[in-house]
Amino acid sequence: MESFGKKLIILIGPPGSGKGTQAEMLAEKLGLFHLQTSKLGEAKINNPELVKNNLEIAEAKQLYDSGKLWPHTWTASLVIEKVEEMASLGKGIVLDGSPRVIHEAVLEMPIMKALYGSDNIKIFEIKLSDEESFKRNSHRRICKLNQHPIPNFPEFENITACPKDGSEIIVRTLDDPEVIKKRYQVYLSETEPIIDFLIKEGYNLVTINGEQPIEDVQRDILDKLW
Ligand code: ADP
Repeated sequence: MESFGKKLIILIGPPGSGKGTQAEMLAEKLGLFHLQTSKLGEAKINNPELVKNNLEIAEAKQLYDSGKLWPHTWTASLVIEKVEEMASLGKGIVLDGSPRVIHEAVLEMPIMKALYGSDNIKIFEIKLSDEESFKRNSHRRICKLNQHPIPNFPEFENITACPKDGSEIIVRTLDDPEVIKKRYQVYLSETEPIIDFLIKEGYNLVTINGEQPIEDVQRDILDKLW
């Protein structure tokens, strides 16, 4: 793991485009902190005590279970808190899962810019068709402890524990077929428009073809870094 300095990489793409997979690889290769928005939020909504006592978290859980996005102000506040923490440690970040709507981008980007500087922020849009998104997500398994994606390849078919951390392998509620279709539509209507917004704001954005083997997507991203 080499140290890559105080840089911020943002991955944007539909469900199954490989954001988690690519972020994990980039974090390992470049010594970046993998800021997984889903993990930050899931830590809250999977805590029954918090769900019971906090209306905002209870609402986030309900939205999540029906395939909808979390309240944007809530998500942004979780992300901003973590970005500030990492910036204060002088650490680079690879961010997967936010911003997902313009409102989040409006809240998060100025803070990221102030803490990291525009020149140190790089955004990758990973393109994937709805057919491929559906195919990948309907076979998707992740591990319980760290949400490591288990690739849908024959050599992984019969494993019952995560090869990385040994934890149990699960299928999430949001990977139910109806929910997957819904999530792709939500991506088109709510997330994709932020690409134009980010370009207009002058951020450095690169489009990557996500319909390639994992290693090729990774190579294309690494080729387009600083
Ligand atoms: P996202 O975070 O964008 O939803 P993930 O990285 O979690 O996507 O990947 C979703 C599923 O697709 C996982 O099972 C993963 O192993 C698989 N996957 C990711 N990238 C590729 C790829 N380039 N080719 C084939 N399968 C992939």
